Amino acid sequence: MEISGYIVDVESAVQIITQKHYKTIAIQVPEGLKRSIFPLVDFIKKETGATILVSADPCYGACDVVNYELKNMDVDCVVHIGHTAIADVENFWIPTIFVNAQSTLDVSKVVEKAIPSLIGKKIGLVTTAQHLHTLEAVEKILQKHGLEPFVAQGDERIDSKGQILGCNFSAGANLTEQVDCFLFIGSGTFHPVGLLMSTKKPVIAADPYTNTVKKQEIEDMKNNMLRQRYGAILASRSAQRFGILVGLKRGQQRIKLAYEVQQMLDAAGKLSVLITQNEFSPVSLQGFDLDCYVSTACPRIAIDDYLQYKKPIITPLELEIALGRREWETYVFDEILQG
Ligand code: SF4
Repeated sequence: MEISGYIVDVESAVQIITQKHYKTIAIQVPEGLKRSIFPLVDFIKKETGATILVSADPCYGACDVVNYELKNMDVDCVVHIGHTAIADVENFWIPTIFVNAQSTLDVSKVVEKAIPSLIGKKIGLVTTAQHLHTLEAVEKILQKHGLEPFVAQGDERIDSKGQILGCNFSAGANLTEQVDCFLFIGSGTFHPVGLLMSTKKPVIAADPYTNTVKKQEIEDMKNNMLRQRYGAILASRSAQRFGILVGLKRGQQRIKLAYEVQQMLDAAGKLSVLITQNEFSPVSLQGFDLDCYVSTACPRIAIDDYLQYKKPIITPLELEIALGRREWETYVFDEILQG
C-alpha cells in the first residue's frame, strides 16, 4: 500500500494476522504517518475483521514498541509500522509484526550529485530503513563512475545489510578498514555525524528529500557536538548527586550498564539513584534535586536533547572521562551494540 510517499507492506501483516487468527490488533506508526492512519486501519480491518487500537505513543525507532502497556487489553499483536525489527524486541509480551515504510523517493539524482564529493575509490554505503531498497541501484551508479561500493551487515541489532540506526553504526564500522569514505543516503544529521564519530572516516551525506549533499557540514557538526560534549563532561565533574536514567522501552533497556554506572559512581564517592521511565523528558525530571544525569536509555537523549534539560546529561562513556577512567582523546559515541 502506498501512503504519504511510502510503500508500507501492510499486506504481509494482514497475512500473519489472518494465519494466526488475531482478533485485536494495536497499530503503532511514526509521527509522519499519523496523518494517514485511516487507509491503514481501514485496510487491516476490512481484510482481517480484527478490532484495531491505534497507539499515539511516540514511535522513534524499533526500540520503541508499545507492548506490555497493552497486555491487559486483550491485544493479540502489535503492528509496528515504519521500522525494521531489532533483536530482543519481537515477541516481547505481545507478538510484534514490524512493517517497514520504504520511501518512494528516487535517490539517483542526489547520488549523482554526491559523486564529485566522494573521497577515494572505495565507498562504504549506509542508509536508514526507509532507503534500504535503493542500495542496489546506488551501487550500480557508483560502479558506473568507476567506484567500488561496499555494503556490510551490522551486528545482531541490525536487520539488513547497509542499515544504520542512531544508536548503532556497526554496518559502517565493519567496513572502516576497507573503505576510503562513506556515502550515507538519508535525511538529518544525527546518523552521518554518528557514523563519522564511530568510524573516523569521511562521511558524505546525500539527502534525497532536499536533494542536498553535505560533507564539510558533517565535519563541522561533529566538531560542534564534541565541543558541547566536552562542556557537559566538565559540568558533570563537580556533580555530587547523580540520576542514572534507565529506559523502559524494550529496545533501549540497558539495566546491566546502569548498575555498572552506579558502581563507578559509588567508587568515586558520588551519590546516585536509578530512575526508570518509558519516555524521559525535561518535565518528568524537573522535580528531582540532582546535579547531573547519566543516560543509559537512547543515546540521542544526551546528545540531541541536551540543551532542553536544565542539568547536564552525559552518556556512560562520558562519565568514564569525567571520573578520570578514560582519556578525552579516546572519546567514542555511545552505541547500543549487540552480539
Ligand atoms: S535507541 Fe534511539 S537511536 Fe536507537 S533505535 Fe531507538 S530511538 Fe533510534
